[in-house]
Amino acid sequence: MARIRLDHIRHAYTPELARAGNFALNNIDTAFEDGGAYALLGPSGCGKTTLLNIISGLLTPSEGHVYFDRTDVTLLTPEARNIAQVFQFPVIYDTMTVAENLAFPLKNRKVEAREIERRVADMLKRIGLADKAGRKARGLTADEKQKISLGRGLVRSDVNAILFDEPLTVIDPHMKWQLRSELKQLHREFEMTMVYVTHDQTEALTFADKVVVMYDGEVVQIGTPEELFERPQHTFVGYFIGSPGMNVLPCRIEGGEAIVAGERVALPGHSGERRSEKTELGIRPEFVGVVERGQPGAMPVTIEKVEDIGSERIVRARLGGERVTAIVREGASVPGDAAVTFDPNALNLYENSRLVARSGG
Ligand code: ATP
Repeated sequence: MARIRLDHIRHAYTPELARAGNFALNNIDTAFEDGGAYALLGPSGCGKTTLLNIISGLLTPSEGHVYFDRTDVTLLTPEARNIAQVFQFPVIYDTMTVAENLAFPLKNRKVEAREIERRVADMLKRIGLADKAGRKARGLTADEKQKISLGRGLVRSDVNAILFDEPLTVIDPHMKWQLRSELKQLHREFEMTMVYVTHDQTEALTFADKVVVMYDGEVVQIGTPEELFERPQHTFVGYFIGSPGMNVLPCRIEGGEAIVAGERVALPGHSGERRSEKTELGIRPEFVGVVERGQPGAMPVTIEKVEDIGSERIVRARLGGERVTAIVREGASVPGDAAVTFDPNALNLYENSRLVARSGG
C-alpha cells in the first residue's frame, strides 16, 4: 500500500475549457495516508470521478503531479500503478464462473494456485456468494455481479490502493449495509489504502475514517465525520453534512455581535469587526431552541412547518426574511407565538464561505 499525494492538481477536459477558465478540478493539494479509508464526498458534478481517475491513471491532469510514496506516477498507466478499481457498473467476465472471476487478477499476477484457492474461498464467503462459486456469471443478478466486482478488487492484497466509484449504487439497500461493514472489516484486517467515491453522506460517514468533501472542483475539507459535523470549515460542508444541514444565515458584524435579520446575536470570543463581501452565521439545527416569545435573547419567528420524525421534531421557521431550522426532542411543544434561541457555544462565523471564527475557540 502507498501514501497517495496530489500536488497542485488542476484539470480541464479540453484546451478550450482551460482557456475559458472552466476547470473540473482546481487547486487540489492533498494526501491520502498509507492504509487510510477515505471517502470522496460531494454533489453530482463536483469532480469526484475526475479526481479518482487521476489517481488511477485513467486520466492525466492538465497541471500538477500524482505521487505514490515518493514516486511520481503522473504519466504512468493504471496497470503500472498497481491499483484495484471497482466501478459503479461492474465489469465482469460473463463466460467465467464466479470463482474464476475472483481468481482472474491473482492468476494474472502469478499467485500460487493454492494461495489463489484459499483467497478466493475466503472472499466468496465475505461477499455472500460461496454457494454460487461454480455458477457462470452470465445468469447472475446486477447485485451479485457487483459483489463479484467488489470481491475481485479486494482479493488482491498487493495493490497500492483500492479505488471505488459509487460501488453500491446497484446493490439492494439491505445488502448495502452488509457489504459496507464487510469493506470496513477488510480495511481493518489488511489496512489497505481505500478511496471511495460517493454522493451519499451516510455511505461516506459509515465507511470512512476521513471524509474528503468536494465542492465545485475543490476539496473544501478533509476530516473525521465528527470534525465535519462539529467544525465545518466551509458553509457547504455545514449544509451538506447533517440532516437537515446547518443553518447558514447572512449577517453583518457590529461590535462583536452578528446582526441576523435585524436581530442581534452575541458572538462570544469574537471581537473584531469584519467587512468581507459575504459574512454568514452558521448554526446547526440541533443547537437552535424553540421557546415562547419574550424570553431574554429569544428572536421572534413565524413557524412554517413541524415534522415529527420518530424521536425528534424538525421545526421550520422564518426569522425575518431568513429560514431557520431547529431540531427539538419528540413531544416538545412548539408555541404559536414562537421565538428561537441560538446556543452561544455553537456559533460559526464564515467570510466568503470560509470559517473565520467559532464560539468556544
Ligand atoms: P457524479 O457524482 O455525477 O459522477 P462527479 O462529482 O463525479 O459527479 P465528475 O464526473 O468528475 O463529477 O465531473 C466534474 C465536471 O467535469 C462536471 O462539470 C462534468 O460535467 C465535467 N466532465 C466530466 N467528464 C467530462 C468529459 N469527458 N468531458 C467534458 N467535461 C466532463
